[in-house]
Amino acid sequence: MLYIVPTPIGNLEDITLRALRILKEVSLVLAEDTRTSGKLLKHYEIRTPLRAFHAHNEHAVVEKLVAELQAGTSMALVSDAGTPGISDPGFLLVRACVQQGVRVECLPGPTAFVPALVASGLPCDTFHFEGFLPHKKGRQTRLKYLAELPHTFVLYESPYRLIKCLGELAEVCGATRMACVARELSKLHEEVKTAPLTELQAHFSAKEVKGEIVVVVAGMPKRSVD
Ligand code: SAM
Repeated sequence: MLYIVPTPIGNLEDITLRALRILKEVSLVLAEDTRTSGKLLKHYEIRTPLRAFHAHNEHAVVEKLVAELQAGTSMALVSDAGTPGISDPGFLLVRACVQQGVRVECLPGPTAFVPALVASGLPCDTFHFEGFLPHKKGRQTRLKYLAELPHTFVLYESPYRLIKCLGELAEVCGATRMACVARELSKLHEEVKTAPLTELQAHFSAKEVKGEIVVVVAGMPKRSVD
């Protein structure tokens, strides 16, 4: 059995009782960064052995891991924060397990885009999750595609590129399109601000932007019939 175990995105209290039990019970925890996850396990006095599983080795180790799982080793996959597979390594291993008949169970738990989307106050009945935009090649094409979506879309962005990103979004979506910047969710300096794109740009240009960020943008408004 492979368990996918979401871990807190800031506040250490945001881990479920089941996640803690599974992390204790499995034979091995696969971690994006063994030092980061080592601190989390130590905090909860969990002594399960850790092994590295990250973007640089996932292609190379997937087959071996599937063989170990088939041989009966129970494993939990964690990333540095949030849900593995969501803008984090995990997909390749899950796909290989599904294809080769290894049972996968993903525990419900923390992820950054859900609290950002819900707290934004923008429509969340239907939405598109984009994750990180490409930095260079294909960025404009992707932005233009997103701008025309009829429903809310969600991006992950670094604090260093936030101002540039808000400017680009204002260009393709229009200055008055409503959006939200959700920063440092579940942490001491959490900030969730919903406003038209140019207002957000002005607000965040006035200070140094720090921390982790989710950008939520309203869908393209329906054109009025007349
Ligand atoms: N697997 C994670 C998840 O389930 O959300 C995402 C990992 S991705 C490598 C990291 C990005 O998630 C950050 O750059 C930021 O965009 C977003 N993020 C993670 N923690 C956050 C937080 N506490 N507040 C706002 N955004 C956060």
